[in-house]
Order: sequence, then C-alpha cells, then structure tokens
Amino acid sequence: MNVDRITEKLNILADAAKYDVSCASSGSDRKNKNKGLGNASNGICHSYTEDGRCVSLLKILLTNHCIFDCAYCVSRKNNDIKRAAFTVQEVVDLTINFYRRNYIEGLFLSSGIFKNADYTMERLVRVAKKLRTEHNFNGYIHLKSIPGASEDLMRKAGLYADRLSVNLEMPTEAGLKLLAPDKNRQDMIDPMHFLNKEIIQNIEEKKLFKNAPIFAPAGQSTQVIVGATPESDQQVLQSANYFYKNFNLKRVYYSGYVPVLADQRLPALNTAVPLVRENRLYQADWLMRFYGFHVNEIVNNQNPLLDLDIDPKLSWAIRNMQAFPIDINKADLQLILRVPGIGLLSAQKIVAARKFAKLGWEQLKKIGVAVSRARYFITCKSNEFERRDLTGQNIKQFIMAQSQSKYIKNTQTQLNLF
Ligand code: SF4
Repeated sequence: MNVDRITEKLNILADAAKYDVSCASSGSDRKNKNKGLGNASNGICHSYTEDGRCVSLLKILLTNHCIFDCAYCVSRKNNDIKRAAFTVQEVVDLTINFYRRNYIEGLFLSSGIFKNADYTMERLVRVAKKLRTEHNFNGYIHLKSIPGASEDLMRKAGLYADRLSVNLEMPTEAGLKLLAPDKNRQDMIDPMHFLNKEIIQNIEEKKLFKNAPIFAPAGQSTQVIVGATPESDQQVLQSANYFYKNFNLKRVYYSGYVPVLADQRLPALNTAVPLVRENRLYQADWLMRFYGFHVNEIVNNQNPLLDLDIDPKLSWAIRNMQAFPIDINKADLQLILRVPGIGLLSAQKIVAARKFAKLGWEQLKKIGVAVSRARYFITCKSNEFERRDLTGQNIKQFIMAQSQSKYIKNTQTQLNLF
C-alpha cells in the first residue's frame, strides 16, 4: 500500500465529506456476532462533538469526481479542485485499520457520482458487503444512496448498511431546479419510497421469521441544505414534516449552507448561514417529533421565520399566552410538554411524582425544570413568583435578559434543546 497516496486521498475525501451532516449513528441495535469486529448497539457507537455532530465514524467520500454540477457543492464538475477516488479495498482496509486502532466505531460513506448512479452505488455496496462478510464487521455503517440507482442495488445496500440516506439537498423542487438542474426531485423520492416499503416489509418479516435478514435497521434519513436558496423556515419545516409523515424518516438533518463557491445563483461568499438558524431548525424539528406540535403551530404565514433570539417553544408560548398558566399538578402530559423550560423527561417525572404529593417550586427544580423560564407559564403548590400581568413580549425580554450571558456563550456551539 502506498501510504503517502492513501493519506493524500484521505485528506481530500474526508475534507469533501465534511459538508454532509447526516451522520448520527442512533437507532441501530446491530450486535456483535461470531466474535466479529465492532458493535453498533445503542450507547456504544455514539460519539458527538460539542456541536452535536457524530465523530466516531470514519466519514469519507468514495470519490469527489462527479458528473453533476450542483452549484452549492464543492465537488461539482466545474469546480477546479484536486480530485481523488478510493478503491473499494482501500475503504475497507482503512475502516478496519482505524477501527482496530480505536479511532472510529463505524463508517459513513458517501460519494460523488462516477459515470452513473448504478456504477457508483455498486461500489458503495461492495464496501459494505466486504466489511460485513469478509471481515465480520459489526460496527455501524451509513451509506448514502445515490439517486437514480437501481432497486436491486438499494436492496443489497440495505442488507449490509445500518442506515441509508438519500439527500433531498434543497427544501423545495424550485430550489433544486435552480441550483442543481441536472437533478430531478423524483429521483430522490423514488428511492425513499422504495426504502420505506422495504423497511416496513422487513419489520413484518422479522415478526414472522426470527432469522429473516435485517434491512437497514437504523432506517433512512435525509439532509436539506438551508440558506443556499431563499426558502423560509416555514418551507423548510413543512418539507421536513411531509417527509417524516410519508417516508418514516428517522431524521432530517439541516445543514446551513457554507458559501465556498462564487456563483450568481448563490448567496455571496461572506454570508454564511448563522449556526443559530440551524439550531432553531433542530429545536423545531424536536417539537414536531417528540412534543406533539403541529408544524403550523411553529411556523406559518404570519410567522414564516423562526425567532433566532429565543427557542421555538418559548416563541410559540409567548404568541399563545391564552393557553397559560397551566396547573402543573393537574394538566395533561401533552400540555405540560408545551411549557418552556420543561423537557420530555421532566414532564414525565412531573406526572409520575404528583401522584404522591402536590408539587411546588422546590420539587420542580429537583425534577430538572428550568424554573426561571417555566415560572411565567405555570402554577403549582406555592404562589411565589406569581405575576399574571405580563405580556408575551415582557416575558421574552425578561428571559432574554436573564439568559444573556448563557446565550452569548452558546451561540458559539449548539444550543441546548429547551
Ligand atoms: S451530485 Fe452530489 S457530489 Fe455531485 S455535484 Fe451534486 S451534490 Fe455534489
């Protein structure tokens, strides 16, 4: 093996892969079998950087050669950059060597498109197949599905990968047409449909036949690039909501566009999407998936943009003061989940704890409630803090003033979710 050449390829292809954020490894329970390598079970194959991104995977492209010319992509055909391509065996060897050295717990493999979709997808599948069948590798594998690849290859990919993802790229079809005219939205939707059908079918087969082969046990995900085209947060979240509902996606990843290319269709080079917008989208996404919020409650025609100053739950609450205060000792779980400062776990603990005694501020603090935020929206055993003459705007100002120092610190990295 020519180590210098491999190192050079690794530098080029790991750097090109960094723009894809869809690499979290949650949701797989692949176990170590036959004394093989690795284990992608929950709690083991997870490692996140401070800004919430998974770092325990070897994250590379098979190649940054590409026949397409998507305006937002560094690997676009007409971009004058150094190109490289790994062979299938080189990716397999790197994964195994990095795994043995404890650098990684899995592989995230994407690719530019060589020749055509099938030609590229076949190579991605071969990497996963070799790792599983020749090296008995049980670590996490996330493969990108190349839009337009055949169903036969997609099916094979699902037999070896934990997660598959098809990137939507732009939140809307119009955005895709503008920046990636070679691409067709339907070529992304068809594989999502196919994967959804196969995943559901596999779940049914596993109920009937314990030994049925597993198919993409960590499901499918997608990524949308935010800020390369002028779509509002409303359009971004409505699109995400549609794909969650219709394709059973495990995750939609929001990637703030990084302006690295000069093109009159794109935002200017010095106008990076603020990280806080990405974070607000993730917070809104959590509200839709775990807190029972409908997308239109978070963003709508009157409020098409998320408030960057405060999280979307607080933003919703101050627009809906008529829903508060709620009695923490009586309200349904679904209502408690809507209170700013109360997370999913705390809401469940409140419902369990109040069966034994009425809860006051001290108990709520012990449970983990952020009382400095929640106090404007709830009543409890004690009437301390009670002040009911505040408007939503007053509350926003108080909370922002209180959390100013924390807010400034957190904008450098990912914000807390609620
Ligand atoms: S097809 Fe993918 S790799 Fe190729 S230019 Fe478009 S986004 Fe980049």
